[in-house]
Amino acid sequence: MKLDSKTSVITGGARGIGLAIAERYLDEGANVVVADIDQAAIDEAAASLTARAEGEAGRVMGVRLDVCDRASVDAMVASVGERFGGIDILVNNAAIFDMAPVLEVTEESFDRQFAVNTKGLFFTLQAVAKAMVARGRGGKIINMASQAGRRGEPLVSVYCASKAAVISLTQSCGLSLIAHGINVNGIAPGVVDTPMWDEVDALFARYENRPLGEKKRLVGEAVPYGRMGRPEDHAGAAVFLASDDSDYVVAQTLNVDGGNWMS
Ligand code: NAD
Repeated sequence: MKLDSKTSVITGGARGIGLAIAERYLDEGANVVVADIDQAAIDEAAASLTARAEGEAGRVMGVRLDVCDRASVDAMVASVGERFGGIDILVNNAAIFDMAPVLEVTEESFDRQFAVNTKGLFFTLQAVAKAMVARGRGGKIINMASQAGRRGEPLVSVYCASKAAVISLTQSCGLSLIAHGINVNGIAPGVVDTPMWDEVDALFARYENRPLGEKKRLVGEAVPYGRMGRPEDHAGAAVFLASDDSDYVVAQTLNVDGGNWMS
């Protein structure tokens, strides 16, 4: 097992890609902390992970976390430290999505997306990195970016920009923190069939006047691999970037997108 005895925190880990990574980390021997803003989803995820841990329920922890709230982030770091002695792996995965034509984007929508996707990601990384430095054992931080951060798109300008910033922060933080033995890398998924994409599909239906489900079908057909991504498609890359196998990989964002070149 590649992550034996490591302690991992997965923000936004209660569903979607984050939950698939949590499941795989558990299988690879890690303690898993699901840190999410949605308490009902945390309870459900923690119950299914505990069942998966087969008698090792102590390896699973659920924490309510709002990545936008610095006190909430500090409290999460402290409670994981008390329970497991520290954090070895952070998957900075929590994010939100909104859609509007450029001429209709509101300041509230802009601020909300940057607050979670960019500022929340950065200060969660900073708080966890400080704890890692104080502990002196290094660590692994994985930022969840997106193909949307590689190029602009007309209806999702702000989300794209918030994810481009994640790719940039991954480079800067990666180059800075490797001196402390902390690898910061990222994953850029393409189109993934999660609850988030159900929301995306509903927004496309509204803005492009399409029947529900049509956009999802079309984007899936356009992926060279032949289908949309599934949450579990990202777990292997997340294990690699959390394991000793990636010690010499610094400040990279890895595309995990089925060859998707247009989203
Ligand atoms: P999702 O919406 O299914 O899950 C996101 C989770 O984040 C939810 O459990 C939600 O409760 C949590 N969350 C939201 N705001 C939070 C906050 N302030 N603090 C803590 N938790 C919060 O999303 P997903 O599709 O699984 O996406 C996971 C990551 O992958 C995100 O960073 C997303 O931007 C990225 N991504 C997704 C896709 C896709 O097609 N689904 C594509 C590229 C990148």
